[in-house]
Amino acid sequence: IIYHENITSYSREELLSKIKQQLHESRFKHVQRVEKTAIQLAQENDVDPEKASIAGLVHDYAKQRSDDDFRQAIVDYQLDPDLLNWGNAIWHGIVGAELIKKELKIFDEDILDAVRYHTTGSTYMTTLAKIIYMADYIEPGRNFPGVEMARKVTHDNLDDGVVYQTASTLNYLISNQKPIYPKTIETYNAWVPGAS
Ligand code: GDP
Ligand code: FE
Ligand code: FE
Ligand code: FE
Repeated sequence: IIYHENITSYSREELLSKIKQQLHESRFKHVQRVEKTAIQLAQENDVDPEKASIAGLVHDYAKQRSDDDFRQAIVDYQLDPDLLNWGNAIWHGIVGAELIKKELKIFDEDILDAVRYHTTGSTYMTTLAKIIYMADYIEPGRNFPGVEMARKVTHDNLDDGVVYQTASTLNYLISNQKPIYPKTIETYNAWVPGAS
């Protein structure tokens, strides 16, 4: 498959091989399942399936970088210094988007924002960002309690899926006494109270 040249000069096969070099086999399979789920959600929500394909494939591109690589990138790209207080879970999307821009030469802000917000969500999300946030959560390899409900809700109404995941993730983080990134709380406040 050749993608539109204004989004990337790589074919899907070339992009796959670059991503494969960065990821363990199990994560490489995960991103391909996210791609497939994202294309399906794109068709259901009138979004460009090509952007969904690319965003799905690259969303975890930086997940296996070292903490030192991320710290260096935060300094080099002059990102919010508070990011230095966090870790891989928060970095691989927000900082990963800068590595995707630099190394894969993808400059489409719609795709980069979808990568940035795929873990924490955001108060405002484009439809593509909602799709990647949800595809990552409901791809067929996921098997947490509630995933069947998450799939049903998301295919019925994408925004309801965002509410479902945002509430469940905050519950999970609190139940396990994990630190909560402020953006995750902002997403919760924007989407969840009074939603149903
Ligand atoms: P993955 O990269 O495909 O494994 O999935 P994600 O990028 O969506 O999530 C990575 C991890 O980050 C998951 O275990 C989430 O529960 C976790 N996560 C999401 N928001 C927060 C947060 O605010 N704080 C912390 N500590 N972890 C979070
Ligand atoms: Fe991720
Ligand atoms: Fe996710
Ligand atoms: Fe993922």
